[in-house]
Amino acid sequence: MRRCAVRISGMTDLISIAEARLRVLGEIQPLPTEAVDITSALGRVLAEDVVAVGDVPPFASSAMDGFAVVAGPAGRRLEIIDESRAGSPARRGLDDRQAIRVSTGAVVPQGATAVIRVEDTKEAAGVVTIATASAPGQNIRSAGDDLVAGGQVLDLGLTLGPSALGIAVSAGRTTVTCAQRPRVAVLATGDELMPVGARLAAGQIHNSNAVVLAGLVEQSGAKAITSDPVADDQTATSAAIKAALSAADVVVVTGGVSVGPHDHVKAGFAAAGIQERFWRVALRPGKPIWFGTHGSKLAFGLPGNPVSAVVCFHLFVRPALLALQGASPISPRLSARLASPVKLNPTREQALRVCLRWESDGAVAELTGPQGSHQLSSMLSADALAFIPSGEGEADVGQLVDIELL
Ligand code: AMP
Ligand code: MG
Repeated sequence: MRRCAVRISGMTDLISIAEARLRVLGEIQPLPTEAVDITSALGRVLAEDVVAVGDVPPFASSAMDGFAVVAGPAGRRLEIIDESRAGSPARRGLDDRQAIRVSTGAVVPQGATAVIRVEDTKEAAGVVTIATASAPGQNIRSAGDDLVAGGQVLDLGLTLGPSALGIAVSAGRTTVTCAQRPRVAVLATGDELMPVGARLAAGQIHNSNAVVLAGLVEQSGAKAITSDPVADDQTATSAAIKAALSAADVVVVTGGVSVGPHDHVKAGFAAAGIQERFWRVALRPGKPIWFGTHGSKLAFGLPGNPVSAVVCFHLFVRPALLALQGASPISPRLSARLASPVKLNPTREQALRVCLRWESDGAVAELTGPQGSHQLSSMLSADALAFIPSGEGEADVGQLVDIELL
């Protein structure tokens, strides 16, 4: 890796991570929308603002199990005249000499202005003795104190988590309008690649990147389309890229994107009519990343080294997939102090895998272990990527660096 960095002295074509991201996001045309049943909308991105049809809760309800009363002093003895259960309200109202037994979530009966929790009462022979004084409104949830009828409760662009789905259901929705999920073709290239579980002959490895990238695609809300590995052959590579482009909104290729004699991916992209937007970023690991477009379709050539592929996915592919769905593409950067010194790379910004520890004065970033671009184990315990600017010498212990949570 060092030799490689030294050799790039003549490569003025390396662009920064920030510039590469701008170029990717500049090409995004959000996908069309569709109605999605609420029961299958987890993880989808809202393409509309959701407005509550009615108040939630829809009626004044009790916050406690106890007795509904007219608010008043302690020591009163009140006749129990009815019960209001969750789902079946009392059939009558009350006056200040009466009480109605209530359950949490039940309708507060007509005339009642407070609920006394059961722990503050004593009941005998149809009469309840109230041990505490109460004020109007006590233990009563008024109608609409969570969501108000006509109010906007979920915003366009939100990724629907479980609680957001609950809000949509409470707001009276059965379907929500969401961006379509991008279809992402994942293509692994390399003569050495063997299917999952295959017996390996000399020089062969398992095609782990396809599984990793398909997982990252799904975690980004998109649909992965996988296929068999593609041989290091120009005709096969071009044909596979063309087929992927016709089946998907985004094509993600790994391997074969550098300058070796058996790297055919860039020529394959060109043969499929995909226009180059950039090739090579001042990034370690991940320098050879390639990005291009074909109409509104996107194509990424990721390096084959497993960590490089994952880092490039997080930095460039994931933001693109989020933006295609109308979600905010890039998570905000935080900062953390380095737990150990890091040797700077003279020309490339480094994206190191770190775990985070929280101390009284902020986050501390510790390397996950050896950081080779082939050592996928370095991703395993990573909480974040830490960005170390290029330069000479070392970044010191305690130096503040940018991080992006994974
Ligand atoms: P390349 O980018 O094709 O030069 O590959 C760089 C390194 O990544 C080589 O050691 C490859 O064997 C490895 N590699 C390429 N593709 C994959 C893959 N799909 N799964 C695991 N490792 C891979
Ligand atoms: Mg290769």
